[in-house]
Amino acid sequence: MENTGGTQEHDVVVIGGGAAGLSGAVALARSRRSVLVIDSGAPRNAPAEHMHNFLSRDGLPPRELLALGRDEVVSYGGRIVSGRVGAVERDGDGFLVRASSGVVRARKVLVATGLVDELPEVPGLRERWGRDVLHCPFCHGWEVRDQRIGVLATGPMAAHQVMLFRQLSDRVVLLRHTGPALGELAEEQLRARGVETVDGVVEQVVSVADRLVGVRLAGDRDVALDALVVAPRFVARADFLAPLGLHPVDEVRDGHVIGSAVPSGPAGATAVPGVRIAGNVTDLSGQVITSAAAGLMAGAALNGELVNDETAAAVAALREPFSHEAERRLAAVVAGGRRHGL
Ligand SMILES: Cc1cc2nc3c(=O)[nH]c(=O)nc-3n(C[C@H](O)[C@H](O)[C@H](O)COP(=O)(O)OP(=O)(O)OC[C@H]3O[C@@H](n4cnc5c(N)ncnc54)[C@H](O)[C@@H]3O)c2cc1C
Repeated sequence: MENTGGTQEHDVVVIGGGAAGLSGAVALARSRRSVLVIDSGAPRNAPAEHMHNFLSRDGLPPRELLALGRDEVVSYGGRIVSGRVGAVERDGDGFLVRASSGVVRARKVLVATGLVDELPEVPGLRERWGRDVLHCPFCHGWEVRDQRIGVLATGPMAAHQVMLFRQLSDRVVLLRHTGPALGELAEEQLRARGVETVDGVVEQVVSVADRLVGVRLAGDRDVALDALVVAPRFVARADFLAPLGLHPVDEVRDGHVIGSAVPSGPAGATAVPGVRIAGNVTDLSGQVITSAAAGLMAGAALNGELVNDETAAAVAALREPFSHEAERRLAAVVAGGRRHGL
């Protein structure tokens, strides 16, 4: 870390301290980069009690994985602060990161802010989210195997979700709710797999003693259930990138907008050199382990960019030993080395 005109400068500022951001920060800190993670403390899977499909950590509470990751970042010299980033702007050959915790300068930026699940507006649903109102068969499907599972249709993906949960239970019901007509083939598939369908709009998710027990439809008809599957709209958390000209774009599946994500290329490259992105903010179907892997790749790529910048500066200094610019660049490289105890 360096002070430039009163503003702290870091090799990399990581925005978001979930699986993607912390994993990128570890890779950078282990490469002796000064890293600052700014995190607002609202990881997407916080409502869930346990995390699954993370090899060797199955069933770990999500917050415990993050606590372990934070310890690793800090053990290699990285810093983590609580704060919400409101804007990232260009600043010469780097960036200014404006956060509720203060303004810092970054040579490079790693964005790992995840997404927001916008849930269907049905009374009683939000309170059960991540517990017995679910969306992902890989995250919680095993836990509801053989149970009575209702799938709330709000878009064309409902038939696909039904089939994924039908793999886990033969007591799956499609609640047609506000979903579109499914088409002959999908209807035939539902019949063939023994999936009951229920017409009518769901007006209430019913819970008793802190457990979902079913849904109530218009006309006071009840359907008894143990779990309800929904399709949230997945919205990237990326407003603060607007000053850089980076914006989320709609993601369409089967002609239906399922959410928005910031586009990226290999190793999380964005349209802005020096800014890379990883995790759910760019990959809506990313899981914890794939988000962590993407963070690692993006962090490693940013370290590579810094190595290239520093090597170019050192070569320029070597070729022009007496020029003022060369002296300035050499001094910057030497200062960088001193910062890392070299
Ligand atoms: C209920 C539920 C259960 C799930 N269960 C599983 C499971 O069992 N297994 C699995 O693999 N996946 C599961 N997932 C998916 C999993 O949550 C995501 O894949 C994972 O969290 C993505 O990691 P991430 O680092 O991209 O984002 P996140 O984990 O969401 O982390 C993003 C971080 O960035 C911070 N942030 C956001 N905006 C800003 C800002 N402007 N400034 C500073 N910080 C900011 C947030 O506070 C958050 O801490 C589940 C999802 C849900 C909704």
